[in-house]
Amino acid sequence: MYRPINHGYIEVVVGPMYSGKSEELIRRLKRAKIAKQNIIVFKPHIDDRYSKNDVVSHSGDSINAIAIEKASDIYDLIDDSIQVVGIDEVQFFDKDIIDIAVDLANKGIRVIAAGLDMDFKGEPFGPTPELLAVAEFVDKIQAICSVCGQPATRSQRLIDGQPAKYDDPIIQVGAVESYEARCRKCHVVK
Ligand code: ADP
Ligand code: ZN
Repeated sequence: MYRPINHGYIEVVVGPMYSGKSEELIRRLKRAKIAKQNIIVFKPHIDDRYSKNDVVSHSGDSINAIAIEKASDIYDLIDDSIQVVGIDEVQFFDKDIIDIAVDLANKGIRVIAAGLDMDFKGEPFGPTPELLAVAEFVDKIQAICSVCGQPATRSQRLIDGQPAKYDDPIIQVGAVESYEARCRKCHVVK
């Protein structure tokens, strides 16, 4: 894929859970490091699945990251030496993340964002759709459907092992919530 040198631009990697978004983000950032570029990585504070200070993929790769409360915190943490900004779980950021990504790219920074394109209902998720629209490079990647083995494009939410209903509350006390990757055909929203 063509990547301009010394120009800012936005790359977005999207797909369902388990599609390898974090893996791909980490791969790109590690390669930028090998190229001796100054990188910094952010993730939303709410996502502390595995580690507060790292982006960690399901396969175990990781890279150091800073957990921030709001998109504009990025401005407090970068300086003129930064050449590449990585952002994981971009769907959980506020809408400011779009203008900030554009502003950073305009200033010559390579912005690489990864996140969910759809929520468990199969609907566009947070700021991701608009970010896709303004990005130079978009990669939409698939996981493997846990039901039929075909490419999975959706995240299936399960409550106590059963497909979640459209308006199930985000947090259900006492219930076991889990997610799996599914294709369009196997994805169920009751
Ligand atoms: P994402 O950030 O998109 O949730 P990760 O990069 O964290 O994905 O993890 C991707 C890894 O998850 C794969 O390389 C594979 O090892 C593992 N994995 C687990 N379940 C699945 C699945 N259903 N489809 C594809 N990969 C899966
Ligand atoms: Zn399927």
